Amino acid sequence: MTRHELTRFPLIKALLKNRWPQLAVYAALLAGFIFAIFAGFVGSPVGNHNFSIVFVWIAWWAMLILAAVPFFGRGWCAVCPIPLPGEWLQRGAILELAPTGKGVSLGRRWPNPLRNIWMQNISFTLVALFSSVILTMPLITAVVLSAMFFLAIGSSMVFERRAFCRYLCPVGGFIGLYSQIAPLELRVKTTRACASCKEKPCYHGSEAGYGCPWQVFPGGLQKNSYCGLCMECLRTCPVDNIAVNLRPFSSDLATPTKRLDEAFKAFIMVGAALIYAGVLLGPWGALKDAAYRIGSGVWFAYVGVFLSVLFVLMPSLYALAVKAGMLLAKTSSAVRPAFAAMSAALVPLGLMFWVAFSLGFVFTNATYILAALSDPLGWGWNLFGTANIPWQPLFTGLLAPLQTLVLIAGMLWSAETAQKVASAAGVRPLPVIIYCLLATLVMLGLLL
Ligand code: SF4
Ligand code: SF4
Ligand code: SF4
Repeated sequence: MTRHELTRFPLIKALLKNRWPQLAVYAALLAGFIFAIFAGFVGSPVGNHNFSIVFVWIAWWAMLILAAVPFFGRGWCAVCPIPLPGEWLQRGAILELAPTGKGVSLGRRWPNPLRNIWMQNISFTLVALFSSVILTMPLITAVVLSAMFFLAIGSSMVFERRAFCRYLCPVGGFIGLYSQIAPLELRVKTTRACASCKEKPCYHGSEAGYGCPWQVFPGGLQKNSYCGLCMECLRTCPVDNIAVNLRPFSSDLATPTKRLDEAFKAFIMVGAALIYAGVLLGPWGALKDAAYRIGSGVWFAYVGVFLSVLFVLMPSLYALAVKAGMLLAKTSSAVRPAFAAMSAALVPLGLMFWVAFSLGFVFTNATYILAALSDPLGWGWNLFGTANIPWQPLFTGLLAPLQTLVLIAGMLWSAETAQKVASAAGVRPLPVIIYCLLATLVMLGLLL
């Protein structure tokens, strides 16, 4: 598979190795993050007039889904401010640029039974269940952002490295799944150099930088999911064996997962996109009402349906499709590994569902961004003269054709992925492709 090493260009390599550009972006984003929490607590309770809702759930979300994840994978994690204060305390190197060995963390190992992404699956599902209020009420957004912030600090104080990012962050699981699609990767240039490297400073750290904060050994990296692109290994590798490469889209899916936690992540993401589209953009008032009336009987019914779709209905139908594919291929091995492997087909499908959903959400709400820029707290300011720009949906004529194209592309992409992984999984891909086609038709029906 063709790869082009970006780090062979001295300017790119110097920019990535140097800590200052990353630190500058970190500092700006940390200030924005803290301001979003502040705005959520003290600003206007009207979501569309509050920085916390408009910049987090419209501007940041659009940037993440439409650009950062599809093209840069975990690029957002390379500059995300959430784990920063905890990491600084853990390293004892607040704003210092080299290891000092004066960290204050207990440095415990994350418990073995939890070394998977089930906790991330649960945390994303919880955020999704409460999304109706999180996405519209600044106070709740501020509470959620603060909880993530303090959980990240707390886990850094107790556990080694970035336990929050690796095992808990609801956003991290989602980015990790779809980072497999990005045409960008960090890998070692040759595993031979790693085999003869005794100290392994990329993992353990050295005077040049920190050991991998994501608990990844770069020499064993085969996919993007757990590499936070922090560039520490680029700084610490003494033999210049780390490369950042451009590669074809979805290269990681050629090596499908064997893990059920990762397979379920794919279902949760596809199912959540379908449910979000129905609740937030659909015309069903009763459904919206059920999602908003948290704690009521109808809300519990909504939760029951939500969880059944994500964890029972969709995976069961998929398992049936995989089983049918195994019968067609006359394979008699266990369904579970084939089910996990074939979940690769849901990765491009899910990403395109989220892109199509986000286009609708963002085109409808984008004008709030300019207004909130001038009046971030909803206090009647007009800092840049844009506070009174009236709300209007953008590109209304373009939206439906664009969403249709995106969903068709996702369908074709998932069919291609299913074909690629099917023979190694001992499955004929047709039933899985039909499943993806039906899911696409449902999504089309919900969006258009
Ligand atoms: S995993 Fe979450 S908290 Fe960690 S860097 Fe990524 S988005 Fe930020
Ligand atoms: S420091 Fe470099 S050569 Fe050594 S194990 Fe890490 S990536 Fe390989
Ligand atoms: S140290 Fe290297 S392998 Fe580890 S997260 Fe950072 S960039 Fe990825």
